[in-house]
Amino acid sequence: MFDSFNRPINYLRVSITDRCNLRCVYCMPEEGIRLINHSDIISYEEIIEVIREGTRLGITKVRITGGEPLVRKGVVGLVSMIAGLEGITDFGMTTNGILLGQFAQDLAKEGLHRINISLDTVNPEKYKRLTRGGDVEKVFEGVDAAKKAGISPIKINCVVKNSSLEPDAVEVRDYCRRNDLEVRFIHEMDLETGCFTLVEGGDGGNCKNCNRLRLTADGKIKPCLFNNIEYSIRELGIKEALLRAINTKPEKGTVNSFDRFHSIGG
Ligand code: SF4
Repeated sequence: MFDSFNRPINYLRVSITDRCNLRCVYCMPEEGIRLINHSDIISYEEIIEVIREGTRLGITKVRITGGEPLVRKGVVGLVSMIAGLEGITDFGMTTNGILLGQFAQDLAKEGLHRINISLDTVNPEKYKRLTRGGDVEKVFEGVDAAKKAGISPIKINCVVKNSSLEPDAVEVRDYCRRNDLEVRFIHEMDLETGCFTLVEGGDGGNCKNCNRLRLTADGKIKPCLFNNIEYSIRELGIKEALLRAINTKPEKGTVNSFDRFHSIGG
């Protein structure tokens, strides 16, 4: 389906949880976060119904995000259900990689096509500080496990403050070169001030060609990351929520004062 700016809308990013096993300083506040009530988190069955209805409206690409998707119980089962849906030709996940070593084989077996792994530094001390306690060795193990499982492509998402020439970004690029991985550099974004730029090596942040919708973990369809517009699938019904999101998708992003990155999955 096309939106009112004649952009084909064929990509749905699905945040399946606002929970995460890391506390990255640019994503999670020091004082912690107010989590979505369990009763408000949509079920896997509801997610499947949204994607199925989405395919009838032209959605062909799906990405699972979080929070951290691998912390939600039964995620491999969800991957299997999505992979079984007709019309999905491109199926990916974005993860911080900490649990990927345990899940990669099953995710590949159940039909996941591609994976993006967040990695902002390869320096163990800096990584621990940036994620408030994470172990970068787990991420390296996750990358190796995804390779062994045959998931491809494997892309690294590296968040930078201002430039991909920053020392940590250069080291991440070298790590990717040595391990035959693609890298994308994402400049730090700020939802409340509407600060965002094009993703280096990716297509995010390019409003003119934006093809995406988002489904939040509490069942809201959002036409744009940098906007407050959202439609509840539980209040409006799935089809109506999708149609309204496509028909009111803004020409470009402004500000989002509702959401936080951990609950919308970037
Ligand atoms: S800001 Fe909105 S319109 Fe622009 S690329 Fe992001 S989601 Fe698309």
